[in-house]
Amino acid sequence: MYDLAIIGGGPAGYVAAERAGAKGLKVVLFEKKDLGGVCLNEGCIPTKTLLYSAKLYDNAKGGEKYGVEANDLSFSFDKMMARKQKVVKKLVGGVGMKMKQHKVDVIKESALIKGRTQRGIEISIQEGEIVASNLLICTGSEAFIPPIPGLDNNDAILTNREILDLKEQPESLVIIGGGVIGMEFASFFNSLGTKVTIIEMLDEILTGMDVEMSAMLRQMYAKKGIEYHLSSKVTKVDGQTVTFEKDGKSTEIKGDKILVSVGRKPVVTGFGLENLGVELFRGGIKVDEKMRTNIPNVYAAGDVTGFSLLAHTASREGEVVVNNLAGGKDQMRYNAIPGVVYTNPEIAGVGLTEEAAKAKGIEYKVAQLPMAYAGRFIAENEGGSGLCKVLVGAKYGEVLGVHMLGNPSSEMIYGACMAIEAEMTLKELEQVVFPHPTVSEIFKETVFSFAH
Ligand SMILES: Cc1cc2nc3c(=O)[nH]c(=O)nc-3n(C[C@H](O)[C@H](O)[C@H](O)COP(=O)(O)OP(=O)(O)OC[C@H]3O[C@@H](n4cnc5c(N)ncnc54)[C@H](O)[C@@H]3O)c2cc1C
Repeated sequence: MYDLAIIGGGPAGYVAAERAGAKGLKVVLFEKKDLGGVCLNEGCIPTKTLLYSAKLYDNAKGGEKYGVEANDLSFSFDKMMARKQKVVKKLVGGVGMKMKQHKVDVIKESALIKGRTQRGIEISIQEGEIVASNLLICTGSEAFIPPIPGLDNNDAILTNREILDLKEQPESLVIIGGGVIGMEFASFFNSLGTKVTIIEMLDEILTGMDVEMSAMLRQMYAKKGIEYHLSSKVTKVDGQTVTFEKDGKSTEIKGDKILVSVGRKPVVTGFGLENLGVELFRGGIKVDEKMRTNIPNVYAAGDVTGFSLLAHTASREGEVVVNNLAGGKDQMRYNAIPGVVYTNPEIAGVGLTEEAAKAKGIEYKVAQLPMAYAGRFIAENEGGSGLCKVLVGAKYGEVLGVHMLGNPSSEMIYGACMAIEAEMTLKELEQVVFPHPTVSEIFKETVFSFAH
């Protein structure tokens, strides 16, 4: 008899297991593939490892500007892929160690929910049955394959999973979908010299990020050779040829490989969810702010809720479940969840964008400064451009949103998350001392520019 059974060992499931184990709960974690889930095995970590290799190569190519010349520069696709595998293996091993450390029983097989009885929630495994007082469902998400003719049984078609297993660098890559996943793969392959074309149905890439910064990033990559087709709808794929329509005109494009990155869908079938009668909402498991489903003692966290689709949200949602189970009081807030695009340069944002504030009718004031206002940015980004934008409430000056284009915005954005979480105002932020010289000073400068 367990206090908590968790299905799925991704960032929602393994973090919840670790936290619950640390709090003394008796925990069992089911994982049918590898611990770490999509994030560690075929998402966040492998992509960022490859993007780092690409960034290193980009920096070496551009080293002359800094007085560093790398003659006869080359790269090895095989070695980049092998290193990515090594990093993944190390981190997956690390998760296993944490499970042991916190006395979590890990069952490496597919769990099947039998139902809820007086004994608790019953789960079938190959060798019998497990009963737990509480169940946390963290089965994650998988690539959504749209109903476009020609995607099935086509060797040229890749999702995030297959593209990370490529044995050879493609000469050309057509990417259907210019969201975060599409742009990150575009960035990697563009750096290595693959001809990349992005076909996006909407009129801008990176939906959800600050639109001005998304457009700036798109233009930066257009200069580096990426071809974009916005407001364009793919109508069919035939082998390596993609047909899309724009303004009623049909165009064909050929790619050695075609990446489909049009979104992800929650995994809600194949593990007996129907035996509990758990309610769904827009394809994901419906939860409240404490991650409770409609069934008592049954919770869900992470991508399976179909909500945020980010690893850090997944982990925090898992923590909320555990904190409440362990007798504390905790609930999810989604107003300070950061979003990062790990291109080169990076974009990071947290809180409201201008577009979201307008759509919600929230009155705001906005200030923005070029990244070049931070001395360190100039020192480290010869000829580079970027932007920092801060949104505050019109009446009280509380921070509503912060958006940055420029390196290393992925490492700076957490300061803005804390400001939003703590409901800090401009006045309070002006009194915070930032280290000098750092690129993060751009945040302080932008805050200061409201008053002056
Ligand atoms: C290419 C790519 C890049 C990404 N980059 C980032 C990033 O940089 N930052 C970020 O925050 N997010 C990123 N994401 C998103 C991130 O990977 C997900 O938000 C995160 O993995 C969700 O975690 P999860 O625990 O909900 O589910 P998952 O990570 O999907 O894990 C679910 C786990 O459940 C297991 N499972 C399912 N059913 C069963 C069953 N019946 N029995 C046992 N086990 C089962 C699966 O095998 C899987 O391991 C990226 C995603 C992709 C695809």
